[in-house]
This record gives sequence, structure tokens and C-alpha cells, in this order.
Amino acid sequence: MTTETDRIEDVVIVGSGPAGYTAALYTSRANLQPLLIEGFIWGGLLQQTTDVENYPGFPTGIMGPALMQHMRDQAERFGTRFITDLATKIDFGAEPGDLHTVWVGDEAHRTRTVILAMGAEHKKLGVPGEEELSGRGISYCATCDAAFFKDRPIIVVGGGDSAMEEAIFLAKFGSKVSVVHRRDEFRASKIMLERAKSTENLELLTPFVVEEFLPPGEGHDLPFARLRNAETGEERVLEGTAAFIAIGHEPQSEIVQGLVDTDDEGYVRTDAPSTRTNRPGVFAAGDLVDHTYRQAITAAGSGCQAALDAEWYLRDTPQVHPEHPLPDVDLAEAQYAPMAKP
Ligand code: NAP
Repeated sequence: MTTETDRIEDVVIVGSGPAGYTAALYTSRANLQPLLIEGFIWGGLLQQTTDVENYPGFPTGIMGPALMQHMRDQAERFGTRFITDLATKIDFGAEPGDLHTVWVGDEAHRTRTVILAMGAEHKKLGVPGEEELSGRGISYCATCDAAFFKDRPIIVVGGGDSAMEEAIFLAKFGSKVSVVHRRDEFRASKIMLERAKSTENLELLTPFVVEEFLPPGEGHDLPFARLRNAETGEERVLEGTAAFIAIGHEPQSEIVQGLVDTDDEGYVRTDAPSTRTNRPGVFAAGDLVDHTYRQAITAAGSGCQAALDAEWYLRDTPQVHPEHPLPDVDLAEAQYAPMAKP
């Protein structure tokens, strides 16, 4: 059963990475008192990073979680209200001025505008054994799990900056780190690749694909990884190795699938250069819309744009119809969550 809060919000923001917090900062400074639904693990993917060296304003770098704490504190200072829980269902009005509804559990929050900023999550390899052994030797987050694999062999799958960053970090823990990549060429930036190459206990294993992960064989407590050389077909089994998957990200748009336009990969489409979606009063920002740049600073920038777009929409759009009824939805069907559950 739905319970409805009395208040009609001006702005509800869903998602709590750099885009969500920046949207909250700008809309709160515009005196719109935004409500931010931030998930259980607030702060997005940067909560799982170590040093962020490329966010302007921090000449010696800053740890990802500290950067997110600063952004959250700054939004709070100007009156952002937070719900540290998951949005479970969304309904968008169709016409300009219609109300939208965002549910958290059975509590319905009615609002004139919504800013979608649910970000992205780690992509899975999709090979046999990956899901079963996830959390039992297979991980997607070096900062979270590196310490479990002290002096143990580790593979990192991927060839981009994420893979290099994870591998360099993991080399401080593991006995040996092998970066397994499907091509001889790397997508990683030159500087990251050079750093990886000059790390003593780090090797680059190419062109290899992971065929499957197997449970630890006798005498082992870590999974086995079966690799195949993409050119020669040569097979290799790495016995007893931790594995970190770092092959990019995919947008967390499940909760709005079918409600706003998305592309083939699930990214929310916006009317660039604005952050408007195809629904009036609904805006989207950050990694949820961005195939290309996917940086903290670009996410923060688009969060700012979404806040300004929402502010202008509120200024230019006639008041909502007060009698606009709460949509009749079956909350039992609510199954989507914008951010990873703990
Ligand atoms: P990315 O640049 O898209 O790289 C993904 C890598 O994973 C590619 O090498 C890709 O191989 C490989 N891959 C993708 N799907 C695969 C599959 N199914 N099986 C095997 N390999 C697969 O992603 P990212 O490394 O996460 O980086 C994303 C963005 O964040 C980039 O713009 C990057 O510069 C930035 N970033 C920056 C830093 C930093 O500056 N410190 C750190 C992390 C990320 P192919 O190359 O063969 O396609």
C-alpha cells in the first residue's frame, strides 16, 4: 500500500555520485530544497576508488571517498535533504506541469521535477563461474577487496585505465599481478600503461580471454581461471588466483526503462546540449547518459546543467494541477534499484 507524503517537492534527485550531489548543490543554492535519494552506499563509484588525481582543485590529489564526502557536505550545507535508501519505483507525468512520483519502499514522493543521476555499475564478463565465485575470489573493486589477497597471485581483466589503476594498486598487495587483456593494444592512457609496465610484480598477458572461472581445486582456496589465447587458441589454466574484473561500466537505468527514451545500451537519451529527457520536467546527468567521457568532473558538470535546466523549467512551467491523482501502481512489481545494494 502506498503512503503519500504531504509535501509536493520541486526537485527530487535520484542518485548520489558527482552528478547527483552537484545537482543537489545547485538546486539547494537556488532555494529549491531538493530531496536526494542516495541509495544505501552513497557516493557512487568514486567510493570505490583510491587517489583521484584529475579532479581540479586538488593539486596533490584526493581520495575518492573524501571527495564524495565533501560534495555531500556541501550540498547539505545549503539545505539538501537526503534519503539513504533506494528508489524502488518511478512514475512520470506526461504533460508539462504534471507531477512525477518517486517511491522509496511504499512511500510516494510527489515532485514537479526529477533529476536522474543513477550512474553506472561495473560490467560483468558473463563467463561461466563468474557469478557463483563473485565475493569468493572474484571482485569488481580493488580498494574494497585487495587486502584479502595479500601475497597471493591476482589477475586483473581489462585493458583500459580502470584495469591499469586496479592492477597498480593490487600490485602492492598480491605476490604477482597479471593483467589479462583480449588484444595486444591497450585502451588505457599512455601514462597509466607506462606506470603499469614499470611496476615490478606486474605482467601484461595478451591477447588472452577468460573462458571460465572454476571453483578452487584441491589444495587451493582461490578460483581457477581458464584462459585462451585469442590468436593461437593456446589454453592456460591459472590455478588458485584472485580475479578483479575491470572492463568498464554500464548505466543503471533499469528503474526508468520504458519510461524515458534510452539507447541500445541503456543510456538515457537527452536533448543535448541540454539535460532534458523526452519527459517534461525530467532531466538526466552523469554516467547514466554519458558513453564517452565518464569522468567525475564531466559528471559533476552535467549535474550542474541538470540543476539549471530544472530551475528554468520550474520558472517557466505553470503550476501543477493540484488535483493530479497519485498513479495507481502495483508496488509488488517494484523491483529495480538505482544503486548497488550492500
Ligand atoms: P574502458 O576504457 O571502456 O576500457 C574497458 C576495457 O575492458 C577495454 O580494454 C576493453 O577491451 C575491455 N573489455 C570490455 N568488455 C570486455 C569483455 N567482455 N571481455 C574482455 N575485455 C573487455 O573502461 P574503463 O577502463 O573503465 O575506463 C572508463 C573511462 O574512465 C575512461 O575514459 C578512462 O580514461 C576513465 N578512467 C580514468 C582513470 C584515471 O585517469 N585515473 C581511471 C579509471 C578510469 P577492448 O579495448 O578490446 O575493447
